[in-house]
Amino acid sequence: MRSFVLNQQLSGSLLEEKGIQLFIKREDLFFPAIPGNKWRKLKYNVAFAQENGYEHIVSFGGAFSNHLSALATAGKLFGIKTTGIVRGELPSPLNSTLAQARVDGMHLLSVDRATYKTYTQNDDWTALKALYPSAYFIPEGGTNMLALKGCEEIVIESMMEYDYWCCPVGTGGTISGILSALDGKQQVLAFPALKGDFLQHQINKLTKAYTGECYTNYSVLSNYHFGGYAKYKPELIDFMLDFYAQHKIPLDPIYTGKMIYGIMDLMAMDFFPQGSRIVAVHTGGLQGIAGFNKRFGLALPTG
Ligand SMILES: *Cc1c(COP(=O)(O)O)cnc(C)c1O
Repeated sequence: MRSFVLNQQLSGSLLEEKGIQLFIKREDLFFPAIPGNKWRKLKYNVAFAQENGYEHIVSFGGAFSNHLSALATAGKLFGIKTTGIVRGELPSPLNSTLAQARVDGMHLLSVDRATYKTYTQNDDWTALKALYPSAYFIPEGGTNMLALKGCEEIVIESMMEYDYWCCPVGTGGTISGILSALDGKQQVLAFPALKGDFLQHQINKLTKAYTGECYTNYSVLSNYHFGGYAKYKPELIDFMLDFYAQHKIPLDPIYTGKMIYGIMDLMAMDFFPQGSRIVAVHTGGLQGIAGFNKRFGLALPTG
């Protein structure tokens, strides 16, 4: 399926002052049933499962996982049984992410954090394969070689050239697909949602495995994680609410909000040369906002 993804140019006083063009690539509006990068990552995995006669897909995620949510919907749409291995105890009552996944037909299996780590750290699924011998396994966050293939299309379908591609990063699959498609051209900026220095290694490993190349045209901007995944920082929330009031684009507090905050902060510090053309990939994640709002008593727009 080839389809057009809206590219929305922002206007604002900072952009004008600095002489910079900033576009938001609205992946969050692409394939509305499963918005954002998670369908890009799943698309070729689902096709692979179908072509190889798998009737069951097993994957991994936290209690607010956009990936498990996307997989559950994909399973419903394509008639494939799905199982989500959830890190830690299932919340009771289920949060909105897991409740919807269950409605979509996903079987949820909670495992303690230590066990979860053994499954996800080295993708060692031996124990689980005994439990689900005929299932197709997709790693945590959906990141594997077929996910990179899907995420390459974010660039391939793009009709414009940019100086900078910006992308929020969890496991590194999406940005690795973007880097692979750019094949050494332009600059790519990674905005991790988490603390830690493992991402550079992870991105190099994924891109090398996929393309055989070792790309150097990217940087990891590690100052904008705001404490990690499910951390609430008023400064970020205020920024997101302002951004929504100005541009009417909803952001999520885990990934895209941090990236856009980072881009604006870098711009204010003259990181980007005058005349730069930047694209920020809106990777979606809006399904998680309801749960985040509930948890912290917030009213972030959800779509
Ligand atoms: C999962 C996710 C990411 C991170 O993607 P990776 O491929 O794991 O790096 C970024 N943004 C949103 C909204 C996501 O749901």
